[in-house]
Amino acid sequence: MAETTNFIEQIIEEELSSGKVNGVYTRFPPEPNGYLHIGHAKSLCINFGMKQKYDGKCNLFLDDTNPGKEKTEFVDAIKADIRWLGFKWDKETYASDFFENIYNFAIDLIKKGKAFVCDMNAEEISKNRGTLTEAGKESPWRNRSVEENLALFTAMRNGEFADGEKCLRAKIDMASPNINMRDPVIYRIMRLNHHRTGDKWCIYPMYDFAHPICDYMQGVTHSLCTLEFEDHRPLYDWVGIELGFNPKPRQIEFARLNVTNLVMSKRYLKKLVEDGSVDGWDDPRMPTLAGLRRRGVPADALKDFCARIGVCKANSEVQISYLEACIREYLNLHAERAMGVLKPLKVTITNYPDGKSEEVEFDINPNEEVKRSRNITFSKNIYIDADDFSLNPPPKYFRLKKDGMVRLKSAYIIKCDDVILDDNGEVKELLCSYIPESRSGSDTSGIKVKGVIQWVNADTCKDVEIRKYGYLLNDEEYAGQDFSERMNKNSLTVYNGKVEPYLFETGDERPFQLMRTGYFKLLETEGKTVVSEIVSLKDNFNK
Ligand code: ATP
Ligand code: MG
Repeated sequence: MAETTNFIEQIIEEELSSGKVNGVYTRFPPEPNGYLHIGHAKSLCINFGMKQKYDGKCNLFLDDTNPGKEKTEFVDAIKADIRWLGFKWDKETYASDFFENIYNFAIDLIKKGKAFVCDMNAEEISKNRGTLTEAGKESPWRNRSVEENLALFTAMRNGEFADGEKCLRAKIDMASPNINMRDPVIYRIMRLNHHRTGDKWCIYPMYDFAHPICDYMQGVTHSLCTLEFEDHRPLYDWVGIELGFNPKPRQIEFARLNVTNLVMSKRYLKKLVEDGSVDGWDDPRMPTLAGLRRRGVPADALKDFCARIGVCKANSEVQISYLEACIREYLNLHAERAMGVLKPLKVTITNYPDGKSEEVEFDINPNEEVKRSRNITFSKNIYIDADDFSLNPPPKYFRLKKDGMVRLKSAYIIKCDDVILDDNGEVKELLCSYIPESRSGSDTSGIKVKGVIQWVNADTCKDVEIRKYGYLLNDEEYAGQDFSERMNKNSLTVYNGKVEPYLFETGDERPFQLMRTGYFKLLETEGKTVVSEIVSLKDNFNK
């Protein structure tokens, strides 16, 4: 793929060549209130992508200004996820590292007459904020003297007021068309234990005030964030200008990643975990990075997806089939092949000698440059997948039918001579004969068959639970409805399948392709090992 320059890179390159900046410093700024999801992967790829492309730096900045929701467990999970993607941050920083600086900058604002202590509560402030068409009302406390504000703000810090009794507000413009500029609250009183600073503080800065300061303190040149912060940029700039930041970091917004059928809100993902709809943050159906990793999605496939969807300025929704196509493409090149059946149907090869077995040669991955193969044993008793046989086949049915022929992958052509039904009329077993001259690689039979199917040797195969997944959310037609109404109650399908023993011999969680079925991996769950789907083979992405 030819390397293209996205709009953020264009801005950066202009600034580098005009000398406005002489290096690139970004940060990835998650709030440690949940696990990272695939949307964060996009933000990670952009922020660390700039570091890589311009030989710059990128910090992991944990935005911990909301002590009620933040936990060390989430910090650790975030770090593990970023490492899994292969990114290395320069420094690990926290908003709480800068609480003292932020406080001092608030004092500076007060001294400049640009901030005041307000006695209105949250409800009153919101009532007086005005609307998109109507200016807000100025607070009666707006014109307190600098001295009074300094004394009150110090008293706020010292715990002399109750939670919510007072707050600090920037003094900007109650008539601004941008509601974020109408004397926004920049500090609030909140007696909450903080996961790092404990009970040291009872006042906490608001995101909009803390963020530009933390960026500046870290030497960030480009503060990259998602589009919902576009309306906050004037405030970001106001803080930088009023506090005399030089050089002042520049905020640039890009579109959020949305993927059909995937929940991407931490709040809702948390709900799924808490109400037991899924088996934890790393449930293989979850769009969290921990879930995708446990699912077996390779980090490189995810990064490739992020690179292909690119960086743009307008929000849009990416089809989940595109994500799946990227994963499938990667696994097609890299995953070993193996044989397994989801719905075992017993087949007896009546003309194959009792007790005999032979080795047949099986390609490990036909896409490898240097071909490798391994041996699989074939015998009189095998299983095929029940879906590869039909009692009432439609026209052009190339799999197995009564009196029909099919090739067993890497082995022989067989013909179905008889069908044994159970008491309910369901197919119980097939009696077949094989064509001895049709062995793969040395076929002299002259027989042409259109169908090739997978099989396992009944004498050596292993019984295993095979899990396939549906999406957690039902698709597009429900768009706009609340997530809980779109929840897919049948996102897990369990098969009592059979696979070749090889899968258990590799001793790791490497992905493999179960031929004609999909990509899977071994997964430890609920005290057992299951074969767990990564992505199906069916490509329904419409290029
Ligand atoms: P959520 O709304 O799900 O809680 P968030 O935006 O609050 O997510 P943060 O932890 O604050 O999550 O986000 C860290 C960074 O990741 C931010 O810069 C944010 O803009 C970015 N980000 C979050 N979600 C997405 C997404 N879907 N696509 C791209 N970037 C995202
Ligand atoms: Mg957030």
